[in-house]
Amino acid sequence: MVKAVVTGGMGRMGQMFVRHLVDNPKTLVYGAVERPDHPHIGEDIGTLVLGRPIDAAIADDLLDVVIGANAVIDFTTPENSIACAKVCADRKIPYVCGTTGMDDAQKEKFLDIARETATMFAPNFSVGVNVLLGLARKAAFALGESFDIEIVEAHHRHKIDAPSGTALALAEAVRQGRGLSEDDYCFGRKGQVGERYEKEIGIHAVRGGDVVGEHEVHFLGDSEAVMLRHRASSREAFVRGAVRAAAWLQGKPAGLYTMADMLDL
Ligand code: NAD
Repeated sequence: MVKAVVTGGMGRMGQMFVRHLVDNPKTLVYGAVERPDHPHIGEDIGTLVLGRPIDAAIADDLLDVVIGANAVIDFTTPENSIACAKVCADRKIPYVCGTTGMDDAQKEKFLDIARETATMFAPNFSVGVNVLLGLARKAAFALGESFDIEIVEAHHRHKIDAPSGTALALAEAVRQGRGLSEDDYCFGRKGQVGERYEKEIGIHAVRGGDVVGEHEVHFLGDSEAVMLRHRASSREAFVRGAVRAAAWLQGKPAGLYTMADMLDL
């Protein structure tokens, strides 16, 4: 049984975690935490998110609710995640963190602390995306230099950055698989760009509508082509992957684990 404390419980991801953990017979919400100035501190998170109490009042300090839990699921902010990692490291509680946006110094500090307990830290907890990353790396290696690689991603019209972090992770995966350099990345094309050179990794962003997230890796050879494709239809994919990670971390020694470790990729 995963008994999880959800930090940022009233956030977009936090509320999805609460619903998912309550719906699953093998998991429960052991506690919830929000920032100290949150208007719902002290209220039952079940009442707020599900319309019925689950005996889990929202705390303003992880220390107040963590004793007896066997997982902390944290999708909040860089500063808060560094503090959460410390609490989990001190008490050796399995820790699942999906917070993005850490700068290099924050990330270094965070990882130093988090490695003192069993931690899964992933920029993308979707099981499907992580399988795609593993397949892309292997395909790039196996297909070799006679196949041109192009990555295409599509997201909704409100996304403000491009290319997506996942497209960059895919570029990194194929780059490693083929032994290429980041200098080989080619972000879009326009005008008289000349012939494509062998090592180029093309990366392209499509924006529009309500597309949750699509990623394709094209391996284009002379007489055949291979296409790998992932389509997300809901953020629920991250929730499922993170809860699976919380279960997988149970009984694991302290250390930093990746989704690739969990999926044996
Ligand atoms: P959100 O803003 O809706 O939720 C964040 C929550 O954290 C808020 O409720 C906020 O009040 C709370 N919070 C802030 N400071 C806190 C503190 N000190 N203590 C406790 N709670 C605090 O954001 P979101 O869309 O739920 O995303 C949260 C994070 O997760 C972001 O960094 C986002 O990029 C990341 N994310 C990661 C993945 C992944 O797969 N790794 C997927 C989705 C989102």
